[in-house]
Amino acid sequence: AEHMLQSEKLAAAGQLAAGIAHEIRNPLTSLKGFLQLLKSGSSSAAKRDAYFTIMLEELGRIEQILGELLVLSRPSSVQYAKTRIAQLIRHVVLLLQPQAVMRGVEIAVRAISETAYIYCDENQIKQVLINIVKNGIEAMENGGTLSIEAAADQETAAIRIADQGIGIPPDKLDRLGSPFFTTKENGTGLGLTVCYRIMRNHGGRIEVESRQGEGTTFTLYLPVEGRPPDISRDDPA
Ligand code: ADP
Ligand code: MG
Repeated sequence: AEHMLQSEKLAAAGQLAAGIAHEIRNPLTSLKGFLQLLKSGSSSAAKRDAYFTIMLEELGRIEQILGELLVLSRPSSVQYAKTRIAQLIRHVVLLLQPQAVMRGVEIAVRAISETAYIYCDENQIKQVLINIVKNGIEAMENGGTLSIEAAADQETAAIRIADQGIGIPPDKLDRLGSPFFTTKENGTGLGLTVCYRIMRNHGGRIEVESRQGEGTTFTLYLPVEGRPPDISRDDPA
């Protein structure tokens, strides 16, 4: 069942292409509209200013979608290096601290051994952590605590990221990671797609538990020695 038929692959490619076209057409349509308004020359200076702001946002959106698609399209080779988990997490927390502060979210790092390590592609696993922590922050509209903990035995490392956000309805849990699945006005719906792809290329997996109105916990399991998966099974979905 791991191998898709040629016809299924084509259908999946068609769906992905349709998704991309749709996601990029929206900001392009809006850019075109604002350019036409500007060209007509009848808008006040204040309005022009507002149009430019929106246009820059729309361009930023296209940039972000294409950036995430590029991650997905990159060959799945993984550059394994011994990486300390505590350091990975510290980097990510530092990077996202401004966003957390802005939303009144406290990031609490708990129970992480300084010596625990995994063999992984550091930048890729950082990307996974960033996407998941960001989602956690975005899920907490009224602030709260986002806690991160990690534990490892000889074989497996587990990193747990728990938020106190809005939660995910049970019927939506299955859709996490599908390209372009988003419930956010400005979401790309590619963040988790990237996460699942990277985790699979590392021979790891992601578990999600969620209660609506209470919060969501993502647990990442990774092989400590970085066992790569069976390459023949790799597919970009
Ligand atoms: P995006 O963040 O651009 O919407 P993602 O792939 O990162 O795309 O997430 C897809 C969707 O999964 C989100 O729009 C949201 O509905 C849901 N989601 C992911 N993480 C969380 C979370 N921690 N709490 C609530 N919903 C979440
Ligand atoms: Mg996201």
